[in-house]
Amino acid sequence: MSTPGIRVRFAPSPTGELHVGNARTALFNWLFARRHGGAFILRVEDTDQSPTTTAVETKPLEVPGWLGIDWDEGPGVGGAHGPYHQTERLDIYRGCLDRLIAEGKVYPCYCTEAELEAERASLVASRLMPRYLGKCRELSEAQQKQLYAEGRQPVWRFHVEPGPIAFEDLIRGPMVFQGEAIGDFIIVRSNGIPAYNFAVVADDHAMEISHVIRGEDHLSNTAAQVLLYRALGFSPPVFAHHGLVLGKDHTKLSKRHGATSVGAFRRRGVLPEALLNYLALMGSSFEGGREVVSAKEISEGFSLERTGKGGAVFDEEKLLWLNGIYIRRFDPAVLAERLTPFIREAGYDEDSFGQERFEGIVAAVQDSLPTLADIGGFLDIFSDDRFQLDEEAASLLRSDDAKRVLAALWGHIEGEAILGGGVMPVKDAPAIVPANGEGTPLLFAVLIKQIGEQTDLKGKKLYLPIRAALTGRLHGPEMDRVFALLNPASLCKRVEQALTLT
Ligand code: GLU
Repeated sequence: MSTPGIRVRFAPSPTGELHVGNARTALFNWLFARRHGGAFILRVEDTDQSPTTTAVETKPLEVPGWLGIDWDEGPGVGGAHGPYHQTERLDIYRGCLDRLIAEGKVYPCYCTEAELEAERASLVASRLMPRYLGKCRELSEAQQKQLYAEGRQPVWRFHVEPGPIAFEDLIRGPMVFQGEAIGDFIIVRSNGIPAYNFAVVADDHAMEISHVIRGEDHLSNTAAQVLLYRALGFSPPVFAHHGLVLGKDHTKLSKRHGATSVGAFRRRGVLPEALLNYLALMGSSFEGGREVVSAKEISEGFSLERTGKGGAVFDEEKLLWLNGIYIRRFDPAVLAERLTPFIREAGYDEDSFGQERFEGIVAAVQDSLPTLADIGGFLDIFSDDRFQLDEEAASLLRSDDAKRVLAALWGHIEGEAILGGGVMPVKDAPAIVPANGEGTPLLFAVLIKQIGEQTDLKGKKLYLPIRAALTGRLHGPEMDRVFALLNPASLCKRVEQALTLT
């Protein structure tokens, strides 16, 4: 379905890592644009930037790209409504300010920070809403000149008339704010840089934005923006304020809840596909209760109403669960490639395992990986230098039953025949198991069966000591695959280590 004239935007400020809540806003805008055949615009709101923040400038752009959110206009892509960095659009804001000055809708304010602070404090002490009470509104031209002569650099404030400010929100219905509660707000700072509310109105109008989709924390800003639209004679876009991403305690997700930035989840090895899927559907599910849904399907069924008025609780466990599903769906060769940076991060050289063996390892651990970053811990199983028994495994291996199982296993692997032929995982086994002899692979299941018969143990008592001795832990990848991936020397060394544990 294509609706002409649908233009939405995502307008991040490059002041740090992108919060998952902001990524969700980007996603909603993008899904809306794709659903309706509209344009998705990326605009960088960099007017708040101090010189020290330029280092992270690329982060807000990196994140949508990483998530697979592409933009039709914006940095790197261009477009008819550029430039797309606010710091390159100062002339546009100046033009709007000049109009408001000419029409007497704004005034210069010379109040110092200390004066404003005193006003705020006295309002708070009287239990009143802190806001600017309009001290400079009535200054005569002579007074203004006098203050300027004193070296004060004015800000420009917008004159807010008392009375209701009403607008319609696509998600929340009719909204009403009171001008008295807002107070005359700053639109241009003393250094000539526009404030957020002003720049955003000038830009959304100039960029012909049809729908402004953002978090409900911007609702009161929208009231101020509606006033600016009216003052400038611009027709406002449709507004849609979605609920926020919340922590488990139902307050806005913040650092004290744990990881909040997309970058943090990326570094932990959450896949962009999984994060996108999770952010798009969190707090709701797809038709038929499905939770694993591709971006294409999500966009085909997307509606703003469904994003919900209420906030959505961010459940990290659920995200990791979904991530595990995505990981399990990969072809091991593709997964091996996606794992490369995480292997290096864990201090391994991806070539040290050899491609074939590495893909075998990936296939073995794939079902146990909640995130890509967990690969390091699993690689330790396959590296003699890093292999270690954890506490649980060591304590289990001290039991008599465990020693019996391992003694039986030792009896098998000690034999040159088996070591020479390797041990074959169940999945790769031929339909007919060859007789075990020189150079013939032994089926792992057969080996276990034999050890079971020799020790008269079964179930966990039989399996866990083998797992503990060979992987160093009680949970993890399928043993038949592990067995096949360990070379005979490692197998012997580990069984020996377990047998001599006191
Ligand atoms: N730069 C603003 C922010 O990051 C944009 C808000 C808006 O969408 O208007 O919150």
